[in-house]
Amino acid sequence: MIIKAIRVENFRNIKEAELEFCEGVNIFYGDNAQGKTNMLEAISLCLGKGFRRSRTAALVPFHAEGETPPETCISLLFESDAAPDKDNVIQYKISNGRASIELNGMPFRSASDLYGELKHVVFAPEHLTLIKGASELRRYYIDNIALMQNKAHKHAMADYTAALKQLAALNNEIVASPDTVRNTRDMIGIWSDILIRQGINLTYGRLKYFELLRSTAIKLYDELTEGREELDVLYRSNVFGDVRENLPDFNDKDGLYTSYVDMLNKHQTYGLRPSEFRVRVGAHKDDLMFSINDINAREFGSQGQIKSISLILKLAEAEIIRAHNRETPVILLDEVLGELDAKRRDYVVNRLNRSQVFITSCDHGEFDGSGDLRAWLVKKGTFHTSGGGRFHLL
Ligand code: ATP
Ligand code: MG
Repeated sequence: MIIKAIRVENFRNIKEAELEFCEGVNIFYGDNAQGKTNMLEAISLCLGKGFRRSRTAALVPFHAEGETPPETCISLLFESDAAPDKDNVIQYKISNGRASIELNGMPFRSASDLYGELKHVVFAPEHLTLIKGASELRRYYIDNIALMQNKAHKHAMADYTAALKQLAALNNEIVASPDTVRNTRDMIGIWSDILIRQGINLTYGRLKYFELLRSTAIKLYDELTEGREELDVLYRSNVFGDVRENLPDFNDKDGLYTSYVDMLNKHQTYGLRPSEFRVRVGAHKDDLMFSINDINAREFGSQGQIKSISLILKLAEAEIIRAHNRETPVILLDEVLGELDAKRRDYVVNRLNRSQVFITSCDHGEFDGSGDLRAWLVKKGTFHTSGGGRFHLL
């Protein structure tokens, strides 16, 4: 897809801005705290999910208590690869504290219902901690790939999380009034059934893209290191064990269900004090593991290797979207290039040259935009175009 233009009114520190984008690289540059990332966030909100995951109330311009902020309105004009001659408009609004989103005048129940329709990949500095950080980040990464392709994954995620919560609440009831235990046990049975079914769906949803993720990541890492280092990736399913190439047999739903029940029975403990209750096994404990030349990257990887794997994972995400949807994703890069050395930066830029890219930067490095390039100097929420061509960051 190609984003052709955006109009932003009353969003964070941007009072009014109207930008026409090029199909290649679009750069927002300038000093700190001017509104570069705000613009990237405005774009991502129109694509179904603000990548900063902020509350709606934080998105409207600062205002005095009791004062009504002006209406926030972001309009994004885009065309999809499937119908390149058709202009589409997304409108994201915040009015009286409520956010709404429309695609070509058709309202969506929530912005997240739109998520996945408009293919894109966000790469922000926090993604550089993907390897070393908490396992939740890696699940979020692979869930996001699945979400971008498949709406059912969202339901599996929501139902699974609801079942975890309900089981914790029911356990608390047992602890508070043990005489209700019989009733509560029935409910525990119902919610455990949902937990298991959706846990299987969740793992399935992730593993559907894992093989392509693994092969793409291995290929790209080999390219980046010019064959010097060999990456490998495995999916550590907390219930079904390590998966590298051979996926569990997802046609054998009964067999998987039984394995899941066995694991839960082995590890589950009801009736502890509320604060101690946990569903100890399941898809919410799955993880991705990375090795370089057969050595665990999380534990022993150098800073450079860790950075390279994170980069590769994001590039692989874009490749998977391209392969599965025949739609070129838009890439949003928040400050990432400034974190990379020249070699990795060149690699990323070359790899992304088929996509439309949006970059924020206050880096003093040089960006060789031999292709289609447009840049804006950002100052206190205003955007000043400085044309295209070869461009030196600051
Ligand atoms: P950096 O280079 O440091 O990342 P940036 O240009 O990306 O800077 P942004 O995060 O886009 O900076 O913008 C930050 C500015 O926006 C800050 O000055 C902040 O105070 C302001 N800001 C954030 N939220 C709001 C809001 N709701 N209303 C008004 N201003 C806001
Ligand atoms: Mg920023």
